[in-house]
Amino acid sequence: MGQQDAKHNPLDLFSSFFGGGKDSQMLDEKAWQAVMGLPLFAGMDAAERGRLRELAIRLLADKAFSGAGGIEVDAGMVTAIAAFAALPVLNLGYSWYEGWREIVIYPGEYLYDGEQMDEDGIVHHVRHARSGEAMEGGPMVLSWQDVEHSGLGEGFNVVIHEFAHKLDMRNGSANGRPPLHSGMSPAGWAHDFQAAYDNLFHRVGGGEETLIDPYSTESPAEFFAVLSEYFFEAPDVLQQEYPAVYGQLARFYRQDPLARLQTE
Ligand SMILES: [Zn+2]
Repeated sequence: MGQQDAKHNPLDLFSSFFGGGKDSQMLDEKAWQAVMGLPLFAGMDAAERGRLRELAIRLLADKAFSGAGGIEVDAGMVTAIAAFAALPVLNLGYSWYEGWREIVIYPGEYLYDGEQMDEDGIVHHVRHARSGEAMEGGPMVLSWQDVEHSGLGEGFNVVIHEFAHKLDMRNGSANGRPPLHSGMSPAGWAHDFQAAYDNLFHRVGGGEETLIDPYSTESPAEFFAVLSEYFFEAPDVLQQEYPAVYGQLARFYRQDPLARLQTE
């Protein structure tokens, strides 16, 4: 993984833009039908599917898609990405995704080699393989290979992961807490997430093989993004491991994927 030495900054590669404005991407009907057959969307009724489609069409009109690293982006690919991206905001509305524009697609995992600023403002040099990334106020990067492994009901979805970071960033830097709805307690959110984070961190540190991807313990922001993947892709696992977090995410996303998938 990540063998290719993609040492470039994605920002240098915005040469093949298409999409957005007058050239905006259309929803590809065949790709849409194929994606809707994935386990991720099981149990959704006709009204929900209709709403999902409206959101996907809106995303295709709003975002500019481009390929990097030699990949040619087509309508089927952007349709699949739009379908996955639409799910988290199904009951929140499209405005949660506004305020940024570019989505860059790489063929596979790419090597990130650069500087990263931590919460204390200290810049670190980092180098690791990535399947995606979301920059504050800026572009999103996705590995197509990872998009293709999403939606299978196995707890993995790079699109949901990166869009969760975008939701998190709506109230400042990604810190694991997006803006909460009225009636939701920030203290309750912090308590439930912290308890789960501490528990998983401890178990991973002790060498336990956990059901939840240990990568989530990198930071509170990653914890929120990864647990959002489980919330939609494998809600039974999240409910079993951290039911309080499942409840918080159900209130935030205004969805109950566990109940939805059980109607199948
Ligand atoms: Zn992440």
